[in-house]
Amino acid sequence: MRETRKKLIPEECDFLICNASVIDGTGGPARHADVAIAGDQIVGVGDLQDLRAETVVDAAGLCLAPGFIDVHTHDDWALLRTPDMPFKITQGVTTVVAGNCGISAAPFRMQEGLPDPFNVVPGLKEFSFETVGAYCQAITESPPAVNVRLLVGHSALRATVMGPDLNRPANADEINQMADLLDLALGEGAAGLSSGLDYPAALEAPLDEIVALAGVLRRHKGTVYATHIRDEGDTVVDAVKEALTTGQQAEVPLVLSHHKCCGHRNFGKSKITLAMIDEARRAGEVALDVYPYVASSSALMERFIGAAKDVIVIWSAPHPDCGGRMLDDIAADWGVTREEACTRLKPAGAVYFDMDEDDVQRIMQHPAAMIGSDGLPGTEKPHPRLWGTFPRVLGHYARDLKLFSLAQAVHKMTGLSAAKFGMSDRGEIAVGKKADLVLFDADEIADHADFDTPERPSKGIHTVVVNGQVAFTNGLQTSGRAGRFLDNQPNLRGDQ
Ligand code: ZN
Repeated sequence: MRETRKKLIPEECDFLICNASVIDGTGGPARHADVAIAGDQIVGVGDLQDLRAETVVDAAGLCLAPGFIDVHTHDDWALLRTPDMPFKITQGVTTVVAGNCGISAAPFRMQEGLPDPFNVVPGLKEFSFETVGAYCQAITESPPAVNVRLLVGHSALRATVMGPDLNRPANADEINQMADLLDLALGEGAAGLSSGLDYPAALEAPLDEIVALAGVLRRHKGTVYATHIRDEGDTVVDAVKEALTTGQQAEVPLVLSHHKCCGHRNFGKSKITLAMIDEARRAGEVALDVYPYVASSSALMERFIGAAKDVIVIWSAPHPDCGGRMLDDIAADWGVTREEACTRLKPAGAVYFDMDEDDVQRIMQHPAAMIGSDGLPGTEKPHPRLWGTFPRVLGHYARDLKLFSLAQAVHKMTGLSAAKFGMSDRGEIAVGKKADLVLFDADEIADHADFDTPERPSKGIHTVVVNGQVAFTNGLQTSGRAGRFLDNQPNLRGDQ
């Protein structure tokens, strides 16, 4: 534990972090410096030992980085249900991008009979908002511990405009209505559009429908189209091509969500998909996000089980006793096929062991790859990525395997992420930026969540600051919840 002492005359700054090894989020090397905070802003970086401050933290031996940005989350509802967000704060995450994979809390009108993935999202029935403005208000009235940037889900737009019958393309009138809703949402501060083309809610949505909607983003600077592509298995190459074509035709920045190649037959295909992404990056803006595990997690669906060597059923509405069991064991007990067991267990959630470690590492190393957890809060036995993603990248992959430098790893979860998602005032340690910060021990940092015990906090995170307020220190979360809804920044380019 390090010394925190009070000083008099808090005129110059509120909070001074001294002697830190500052990793500023740009990807550049660490340097020894002090960082001063006043209100919610960084007001000084350098040799500031003489500056008077209300609170001084001696950070000798620790790294100071910008707060981590989790660019791929489904936290829209958790931010309101469990605003302390311990699974994020304990990792050093200070901002989440919600509304991914086509599902968002706003703009969305809940109704009965919606297909997957709507019926597997905890909290969706409790909290849905017809406008992004109403969601922003709910966040402002009950602030969470972390900031939120919200994407608008394509499937949420479809459900709101088309009702539960989503097994078809939208017609011209419906596309216009969705475009109007999206335009309004972006005007109210949404970060962009997301799609989940691999799910029944959007499987029948053709390229033209997506291009028409993504085109609306051109009117809103700094916004982005993020897509869970049509297929991550046998036709992953075609699906990446479709995503790249969408970005090119709509002329908007593109993010490929949780990029992966599922199924033994497709191991190694990341060499092809990353080369396609490199090619596309010569003409337009393309980025991707990835989580550091060889297992994925989603709704339990027949179409996903074929690619996986092993499947863990993490919860099942009709068979709660099956939570935590292997799908093959359940099928054997019941004397039925994997597919039949899957059908009987639904609605349900699952973890799929369906990836190759080489692909995961190759994708993480890509210069345009950001870190996003894709964690699913609110389920009984979540995939450990919910609690462990960021320390796992810093500890296991950067320090232990030396996949990239610590500074590069930090860049993939701060500066790069802020630039891609229109947050020009965050993601770097520099004067004038918002004071979202994380102090961690580079020797100690490690994820502790695993598939057996997925809800364990990580080690090595010392202090987390959100908008200038201490949210976590010395292993304990504070009562402060300083998170905000992050609006678009019309005067700042977010996509440099
Ligand atoms: Zn997804």
